Formats: sequence, structure tokens, C-alpha cells
Amino acid sequence: MVLRFPSETVNEPITYTLIREHNVLINILNADISHGKEGQLLIEMAGREEDVNEAMVYLESRQVGISPVVKTILFNEAPCVHCGACVSVCFHGALEMDAQTRKLQFSPEKCVACELCIRACPLRLFELNFGVN
Ligand code: SF4
Ligand code: SF4
Repeated sequence: MVLRFPSETVNEPITYTLIREHNVLINILNADISHGKEGQLLIEMAGREEDVNEAMVYLESRQVGISPVVKTILFNEAPCVHCGACVSVCFHGALEMDAQTRKLQFSPEKCVACELCIRACPLRLFELNFGVN
């Protein structure tokens, strides 16, 4: 999710409070924070459902804007050399070699954005994409 901090709260230890007092795990993926100005964090949050719900209530009480984010994988298909290196890491069957053509087939509807193919491809043809809901 993307958290948007108003200038009044940008200097408060909000992520620290989330972790210490609301028992959620926070993984910061990107940060755009400046002293005294509005700021943004792109984060992953994990924890028990009730803890996450309480964390959301706390964020809203501090006037922090919350936007859910959807992760998807972008595949730059044209330069693919169909080596198959990405297929073995894709446990969800989104990447398969066509038995007849020996070419890679990508099925985005099966992809769970686990990101394993990003490192597996020697040509770096996969990219993580974040879209705000
Ligand atoms: S992100 Fe994961 S599920 Fe999606 S194509 Fe890559 S390896 Fe397969
Ligand atoms: S690892 Fe990269 S180059 Fe090889 S088949 Fe997969 S996408 Fe194509």
C-alpha cells in the first residue's frame, strides 16, 4: 500500500508505532519523505488480521492516506531467447514452454507476482509493476 503523510505528521515515528504497538511487520519498498513536507511510503504490511485492522485505524487517526496497491509482473517479450531459465522457478505455472514451438508462454492470469522470475531471467525481461487501486 501507499501511505501519504500530511506535513503535520511527516516527522512522527508512525512506522515505529505501527511495529511496536500494533504488532505488524512493515517492509518499506520506497520512500519519499522530506522534513516538514508531505511524504509518501510504499510498504508491504503483514500481521494478524485484527492487528492490521487496528493499524489502519491508527493510520487514519493520524490523517495518513492509505491506497491499496496491486503488484503485477510486466514481461518484455520481444527480446526473449526462450532459454527456459524462468520456467523452473515459476511454481504457479504462469511460465511454460510450448511443447510444439519450444517457445515461452506467459499466462498473466496465473501469475501471483512472487518475483522469482525477475532474478531467474539472464536478460532481465521481467519487471515488477505497482498500480494503485
Ligand atoms: S512472478 Fe512468480 S508467478 Fe509470476 S511469472 Fe514470475 S515466477 Fe511465475
Ligand atoms: S529466462 Fe528470460 S530469456 Fe529465458 S525464456 Fe525466460 S524470459 Fe525468455
